Amino acid sequence: MFGLMQDRPLMISSIITHAARQHAKAEVVSKNLDGSISRSTYAEVEHRARRLAKALVLLGIRAEDRVATVALNSCRHVELYYAISGTGAICHTINPRLSPDDFAYVVNHATDRIISVDPVFVPLIAAVAPLIAAHVRAIVVMGARAEMPNLTLPHGMDLLCYEDLIDSADADYIWPEFDERTAASLCYTSGTTGRPKGVLYSHRSTLLHALAVNVGDVIGIRAVDRILPVVPMFHVNAWGIPYSAPMAGAALIMPGRHLDGASIANLFNAEKVTISCGVPTVWLGLLQHLRASGERIDTIRRLTVGGSAVPRSMTEAFGTEYNVELGQGWGMTEMSPVGTYCQPNAANADLTGEDLLRLREKQGRALWGVEMRIVGDDGAALPWDGVAFGLLQVRGPWVCSAYFGEAPNSALDADGWFSTGDIATIDADGFMEITDRAKDVIKSGGEWISSVQLENIAAGHPDVAEAAIIAARHPKWDERPLLIVTPKPGHEIDVATVMDVFEGKIASWWKPDDVVVLSDLPHTATGKVHKMVLRDKYKDHLVK
Ligand code: ADP
Repeated sequence: MFGLMQDRPLMISSIITHAARQHAKAEVVSKNLDGSISRSTYAEVEHRARRLAKALVLLGIRAEDRVATVALNSCRHVELYYAISGTGAICHTINPRLSPDDFAYVVNHATDRIISVDPVFVPLIAAVAPLIAAHVRAIVVMGARAEMPNLTLPHGMDLLCYEDLIDSADADYIWPEFDERTAASLCYTSGTTGRPKGVLYSHRSTLLHALAVNVGDVIGIRAVDRILPVVPMFHVNAWGIPYSAPMAGAALIMPGRHLDGASIANLFNAEKVTISCGVPTVWLGLLQHLRASGERIDTIRRLTVGGSAVPRSMTEAFGTEYNVELGQGWGMTEMSPVGTYCQPNAANADLTGEDLLRLREKQGRALWGVEMRIVGDDGAALPWDGVAFGLLQVRGPWVCSAYFGEAPNSALDADGWFSTGDIATIDADGFMEITDRAKDVIKSGGEWISSVQLENIAAGHPDVAEAAIIAARHPKWDERPLLIVTPKPGHEIDVATVMDVFEGKIASWWKPDDVVVLSDLPHTATGKVHKMVLRDKYKDHLVK
């Protein structure tokens, strides 16, 4: 017997119509390229998204068509999210930091019909236009007529103006209803190894994920909050914030391209931001600015961090110096992206000081909706004892089952588990801790060394800004850890003192064999340390 509750589909359009009715005046604020501020509201965003949706339909966009965006975090990008998915088409967010070759690859692989682009990324489009002319019928420049560039496109590709498109359509469009499993958005993994692969989210997965990240122990957004996603809308839907914030009724503050520490602190204070989300590199930049300038961020009640491991020193600094909780989450493109979040539960509710900092080094507990397990080389599940480590696998309604264009369920094993490629432990209270990416594992004389743990310790050195550990070839031990560090601005690194920070914190044979000091580390398109580049360059450092 089925239940007798209404069988209403979970539609992305329902989020913005809800926000427009219940939180009509809640703001969507954008910092523009020139530093000026534009203000909109959920009522206006919904109204304009409806006109834009109609304009897309008039341009010939139909259900399942891919409409791409190459854009920073802005109100117009939010309008596109809702307009595209709301019509039943698929919003393909493209990372503007992709190489031209990968950029053309993802556009052609997705067979994008239209690309909406921020004026700042027009040169990128100019460079790749001949490579993407097979499918792309129009480039929409996200601005007013006065901002239209002088750009010649290949035959058959039109240049359109975003504001003209909205002006051309009336607002009598009615959001259609369809199966909630319909594809809504597409994001390619950044492809640090091999070609990028497309992850195709559905309306259902997007809504369930948006609800799940919005509980009190995760991002916990309230209607009176003002949330600033530093995480980009061009990668994994900015962790779902453009959906969770209007669902909750919170104001969205969009930083555009101004992501350095000073600009972020300035926007936090000017716009009274209460919550923000970003990768560790962003918070490192903010911390350096705050310390150097003496500026405070007193309206912030929670900073959320993820994407790569969070050094304990950073969590401690925000807590003790700025009274700000730095909450760590873990996830990946294939998980929409959030899988776990680290907040104490009943088993460790009373932890304080060092013990609490130790807990916060972990990536945390699975959200409701995500099941996780760790398995050994033989595929057998390992115990949750905080010691056994193995490949982390997940399953749930917002975990990918197959990559775009590949056979159904081809990303899963026979039992429906998705392998994350992360190596982790899980403790008796359910807290997961990443020890490595499978591809970054260091095996020294057959014994394993955690690169994440070593990086975390090195990042605690007062002169070190960023630290990366790679496996370097070694004639006797096969592989040994090599530490690569960058100095904080105005600091110099004394290698001997860096080695000293490991003293007493790890087994002596885990200590890196050498330290390389660089002025800067290479980063991937999503802002993570690009270990493959470092490995290519330094893997023979110890045998030379
Ligand atoms: P890409 O790096 O290709 O852009 P994702 O953004 O999907 O891909 O990154 C997913 C990976 O990032 C995870 O599998 C994990 O290795 C790493 N990661 C994410 N969050 C954390 C975290 N809090 N701590 C450690 N590693 C993390």
